[in-house]
Amino acid sequence: MNSPVILVIEDDAPIRNLMVTTLKTHEYKYLTANNGSEAIMMTSSHNPDVLFLDLGLPDMDGIDVIRQVRTWSNVPIIVISARSDDSDKIEALDAGADDYLTKPFSVEELLARLRVTLRRLTLMTGDAGSDRSVYTNGKLTIDYPAGVAYLDGTELKLTSMEYKLLCLLAKNTGKVLTHTYITQNIWGRSWDNDIASLRVFMTTLRKKIEPDAGSAKYIQTHVGIGYRMLKVD
Ligand code: CA
Repeated sequence: MNSPVILVIEDDAPIRNLMVTTLKTHEYKYLTANNGSEAIMMTSSHNPDVLFLDLGLPDMDGIDVIRQVRTWSNVPIIVISARSDDSDKIEALDAGADDYLTKPFSVEELLARLRVTLRRLTLMTGDAGSDRSVYTNGKLTIDYPAGVAYLDGTELKLTSMEYKLLCLLAKNTGKVLTHTYITQNIWGRSWDNDIASLRVFMTTLRKKIEPDAGSAKYIQTHVGIGYRMLKVD
């Protein structure tokens, strides 16, 4: 992707300037919006590649910006907010945000999240034309038509639940999936005991795809929130 365009949605001028300066220094293109309605308008008229979104905006809640944008666009949204409760993160992710960064944030962290999101975007755009039926990520391979997953060429003995879970994470590589999102996708509901079961299935799945438990690299845990499949080189 050549020089992606980031739309920075932030009403606090010093923070907005920090983000803009960071983007400029790293040769990203950017646009800015100071409120939610401007952000929605610019997303539809300028078609940015990624949104940086503050939740506390003067005219509307950032969560509503996510909900409105999601009615027509899959543009990646990275929430950057002072709200640090898990419930706020979960609400934003369930509304359709891709990632969440809590203020105060480090510039390095912001750039790292942006790179992850852009890698995922390249992955998705690359897949769009070719209806890819085999997923590869590092040593992990999933042959969707055959319903089989391999690690380093060896077939993984997965239960059907572990396989479903792996496919859901793989299809959303790079994106944080909340417990609610995962359980609703897999069980069609999200009760407390489903979330407890999810932890158990995730532990057994991990043992199979991450033989070296000390260095988890495929599945990242977001404590109290959910899980993310990372893109491994
Ligand atoms: Ca604000």
